[in-house]
Amino acid sequence: MSYTEERTRAGEYLRLALGLITKYNLSVDPVNYTVWYEYVSGKNAKLKKALDLSIQQEKSINNELVEALYQKYVADGDRLVVSKLLTKISLMLKEIAGHVTETEGDLAGHGQSLGELAARVADVNDFNEMKDIVDQMLIETKELLNSGKRLQSRMKISSEDLKQLQQELEKSQQEAQTDVLTSLINRRGLEKRLELERIRARQNNSSFSIIMVDIDHFKTVNDTHGHLVGDSLLKSIAQLLKTHLRKNDIAARYGGEEFLILLTETGIDGAMAVGEKIRKALSAKEWKVKDTGKSMGKITVSMGVALYRLNEPEKDLIKRVDDALYLAKKKGRNQICSQDDL
Ligand code: GH3
Ligand code: MG
Ligand code: MG
Repeated sequence: MSYTEERTRAGEYLRLALGLITKYNLSVDPVNYTVWYEYVSGKNAKLKKALDLSIQQEKSINNELVEALYQKYVADGDRLVVSKLLTKISLMLKEIAGHVTETEGDLAGHGQSLGELAARVADVNDFNEMKDIVDQMLIETKELLNSGKRLQSRMKISSEDLKQLQQELEKSQQEAQTDVLTSLINRRGLEKRLELERIRARQNNSSFSIIMVDIDHFKTVNDTHGHLVGDSLLKSIAQLLKTHLRKNDIAARYGGEEFLILLTETGIDGAMAVGEKIRKALSAKEWKVKDTGKSMGKITVSMGVALYRLNEPEKDLIKRVDDALYLAKKKGRNQICSQDDL
């Protein structure tokens, strides 16, 4: 979807979108901006239809519903990229097949001529005729060689295109699994990594832990300093998380102001220690608004810790870590609870 409307129109859409976000008491976040912008601009017909239907049916218009519509009708960039790349692949396959068929035709033609020459050998009576046959042989074999060379050079070009395509594919795959704001892996990327870790745990009879991190009263940061400052804080916290992890651990942006850390080959105690280090580092830091130098006050996080139980489904692990996080919030925030506290 392109946002190249002339400025005034774009401003008007934004105003309308914000109006609706307020009307339905939704959080002012990128997902809501995008969905409602696309809704009021009428650019995304399917999304508009789905939202209109929900409004008509007086369904409750909440963040969850908007997020679901976003996933369904907006976060479709992936499919678009995949289909573009597939078109390229199919064009290239056709091209390569074309080279081969053409060369095959050439080869068959020259093969036939050579066969005919061979048949003439039996009737050769003098040197002149022999010379004629040898001359023809030379021409045909040269042509054969040329066909081979033509194919070779065409295939070289195709293989360069293929390499480029491969790189494009890798880049798109990576982009699809990266969170644009923080550059951490996103939820989709995390799900892939979790799956790998679960397989690894099964194979090695080992385990891993996860920490769910949720910023305390983050809404207040947005409300007090604005969303851009909120965004910038999310980026800084993402960076800080990474500095406390080992090479094989992963920090992912799980949702708005929630992060999930995956600690390979780590038990509950180890994970609690890592979490505590992060919690301390975060709460000890003097957070300031970059542009103005104004203090943001204390920024704290609450965390839940859970250990993967062999063969359990991912959702059970996530539920446990969520419950532990919820407990940490309930007990007063700025603290860590583990599944053992539940
Ligand atoms: P709690 O301590 O209970 O976690 O309180 P909270 O305010 O952090 O939690 P709540 O879930 O009420 O609010 C989360 C806020 O995070 C609301 C939403 O606008 C904001 N948010 C989510 N994603 C983004 C983002 O990408 N950028 C900014 N600036 N804010 C975001
Ligand atoms: Mg939250
Ligand atoms: Mg929060």
